[in-house]
Parts: sequence; C-alpha cells; structure tokens
Amino acid sequence: MGLRFYNSLTRTVDDFKPLEPGKAGLYTCGPTVYNYAHIGNFRAYVFEDLLRRALRYCGYKVTQVMNLTDVDDKTIRDSQKAGMALNEFTAIYKKAFFEDMEKLGIEPAEHYPAATDHIGEMIGIIKKLVDGGFAYVAEDGSVYFSIASYPDYGRLVTINPDEMRSSGRVKHDEYAKESVADFALWKAYDEADGDVAWDSPWGKGRPGWHIECSAMSMKYLGETFDIHTGGVDNMFPHHEDEIAQSEAANGCAFVNYWLHCAHLVVNGEKMSKSAGNFYTLREVLAKGFSGREVRWVLLTTHYRQQLNFSFQACHDARASLQRVDDFIARLKAAPAAAGDTDGRVAELIAASRNAFQAGVEDDLNISAALAGLFNLVRGGNRLVDEGAAGPSEAEKILDCLRAFDTVLGALEVDKEEDVPADITALAHDRQTARQMKDFARADTLRDELAARGWIVEDTAQGPRCKRA
Ligand code: AMP
Ligand code: ZN
Repeated sequence: MGLRFYNSLTRTVDDFKPLEPGKAGLYTCGPTVYNYAHIGNFRAYVFEDLLRRALRYCGYKVTQVMNLTDVDDKTIRDSQKAGMALNEFTAIYKKAFFEDMEKLGIEPAEHYPAATDHIGEMIGIIKKLVDGGFAYVAEDGSVYFSIASYPDYGRLVTINPDEMRSSGRVKHDEYAKESVADFALWKAYDEADGDVAWDSPWGKGRPGWHIECSAMSMKYLGETFDIHTGGVDNMFPHHEDEIAQSEAANGCAFVNYWLHCAHLVVNGEKMSKSAGNFYTLREVLAKGFSGREVRWVLLTTHYRQQLNFSFQACHDARASLQRVDDFIARLKAAPAAAGDTDGRVAELIAASRNAFQAGVEDDLNISAALAGLFNLVRGGNRLVDEGAAGPSEAEKILDCLRAFDTVLGALEVDKEEDVPADITALAHDRQTARQMKDFARADTLRDELAARGWIVEDTAQGPRCKRA
C-alpha cells in the first residue's frame, strides 16, 4: 500500500508523497542542551529514528536534520548558574547527548546544526518579515511577529478567534495556547543575558527559540520540505510559530507532513525537567539496564499512544529481546543434518515479511510490525524443533531478521558474545584437536571450558562460545 502517516496538519492519515520521488527531507526538533536529556526526550528521538529507518526501509533516501538549541532562555539561565560561558556549558551537554544517542542505537542524522552557528540566517528571515509587514520592532529593539498580519495562524491547534485578536506580546519562548500573542523573533539585549548577544539591524540581542528551527530547517532542506516532527508539546507554540513565520517569509508552504509523538509519562504525568519526575538515560543504565533494552521500551509502543514508563517495562523488554537472542543462537547452531523439504521456511519468511512491512507502512504501526517478527520467531523455532531448518534455511531466516533490524535497530543478529581471549584460545585448541581426530583431547578441552562456565557449540561457521 505504501507509507502513510497521521498528519497533524490535515488530521488524517495521508499517503506519503515526497516532493522529490525517492527522497525524504526530515526535520526533527533536537535537544535544548542545558542538561542531560531525559528518557521522555529520548522517546521523541527514538520515534524519529524509527521514522527515518522506516523511510529507508521503504526505499527513500533520507536527509534528516536535527538541530541543537544552544541558545535560549534556559541555556542562558543555567550557564550563568554554573558560572560558565554559554558555549563551554552547552558543549558538555552536546557531547552527552551524542553519547546517549549512540547507546540507544539511534542512527546519526545527516546534519546537526547548532543555533549559535546560524544567527545570520535567522536575522535574514526576520528582516524579510519586517519588510513584508509581518513583524514589527518594539520600543526596546525586540522584534515581534504580528499575529494579526497572518490570518492562517492556528493550523496545528485550534485557536479561538477572540484569542487571535489579542494585542499582547510574549517574550518568553514557552507559553500556553490561552496566551496566544505576538511572539518574539528577536529579543533585545537584556542585562540578564550576560555576554550572550549578537549585533543585528535592530541593535544587540539574541534570537527567539522558534525562529531557530525555521532558519535551520530551511537552510538544509529548502523553503518547503517533506516532514517535520517533535513531541506533542511542540505543537503549540513552537511549531505553530514556525509555520507562521516561515510561510509569511517565503510565501509558500513550509512543511507537508507534521508528525508528533505522544508523551512518555510517569504515573500519568508527562515526564519533564520542570515537574522533576524524570530519569536521564544514565540513571536508567545505572540500574543495570542496557541501552538496547531502553530502546525497546521506547520503540514498542505506537508513537501516538502515551507510553507509561516503568522499570517493569524494562524487565519485559529484556525478556522479549532474550527470546529473539535465543532464537538467533538456535539458528546459528542449526544442525547440518536438518533441512527444509517442503518450502515451509520460505513461506514463513514471506508471511512474516509481509506482516512486518504492512505494519511499518501503516503509520509506523509497531505492534503490527512486531507481530511479523514474532511470527517468524515462533514459526522458526517450530521448524528448528521439527528438523525442517538446516544451516541454509537458518541463514535465510537470519537474513530476514537483519532486514527487520534495519528498522528496529535492536536485534543484534551478528553480535558476537564478548568472549575472553583465554576461552577463545581453548575453543580454538579443541577445534584443532577435533580436526586432528584427537577426540580425547577435544573432550578434555570441552570439560575445561565447561569448568570455566562456557559452552562450545559447533556451527556451520565454526565453533561458537556461549556462557553456560
Ligand atoms: P526539549 O529539549 O525540551 O526542546 O525537548 C526535546 C524533544 O523532546 C521535543 O521534541 C519534545 O517534544 C520532546 N519531549 C519532551 N518531553 C517529552 C516527553 N515526556 N515525552 C515525549 N517527548 C518529550
Ligand atoms: Zn524546533
């Protein structure tokens, strides 16, 4: 059927039709680097990673841009608290962010632009808006977007027309829908900003948060691009403001598909820094879970459903992954004598692949895709039990798992267990003894391995060591 997504702009599930055939431009709102990202943030980034991988699986060449918000109200506030220069302070959390992304198996985006490297582009858009009558300069030298100049305001969220007539102004980056108002594109220098300031046609100051994403998305993806994402909390005001200022400046559509993930919650409440109910990834890993297990927790609830985080969910993820790991190990040890005689393996693979693909295409329906995966695991185990899958059939099933893993990023089909060098050496000696037909020595070496807690299996690819 082809890929389709629930589009927050049209509020329907739309077929994905990219601007350029075979290509997809994707902008994903990135972290504000003022602290370690929490696992609620990572829910958004894992969803975006799934989206990116799903696009690739369906044959699109993806250009993904994820910005780094390294100047805004919060980064300035906390760098001052830490007594550090803004760029030194944000560098710590940029580094931590990339480390965490890697632990979660998130594929790198093509571009990670930082806001402080794009102030010139932001000023350029603001100038266009002032010249076009969509923005005005206030007494203090701040520049505001005029809501009244843009009748289409309120595309993602429904806004009461009375609120639209509000003549107020809002300088803060974050505000509620009830306080819809002209928002700051450029904030005139304030002593509270310390030494964070850039020159502009309106005097010294710094950009508002919303203009940052407009400038960085347009620069790398063009004035109109395919997909823009974030968490649902980004819809207002951030994305609403991005649409208004971008479309007013360029006179063309900004984004064709808006995708938003629901929140990760703890006891029913959104996980957030301000509520204080958050876990950083580091904290969860310190409790003994792996990045792969956390990824599985974040990945396996459909992105438009709230995800309630619990440590029980991490244990459940561990059990699901163990099932897959055991299956992979069995396939790799499939005895040479076994063989598929009636095409049942090919049939199983085709059915599982179809189910997986149908799930992926259906607005990233992860449960349906995983049903395809577990159909393969269940059916594959049965075939191995029945002796209907030998090494060549096993390899076909492994190939199917590899294909699924380009989307899931968690199956570790080809990961070797970390085997200590002395254990590898013993296994190697045993293999040599067997080849020399010295079976007594081979048995002694097997016992020696067992005494050290290791089992050695003879597979089509040679001996494989596994913890007992
Ligand atoms: P921020 O660093 O606050 O700008 O957030 C970065 C990304 O994380 C944005 O896309 C947010 O929408 C998303 N986000 C923040 N909190 C949560 C949460 N509890 N659940 C899911 N996504 C979130
Ligand atoms: Zn953004």
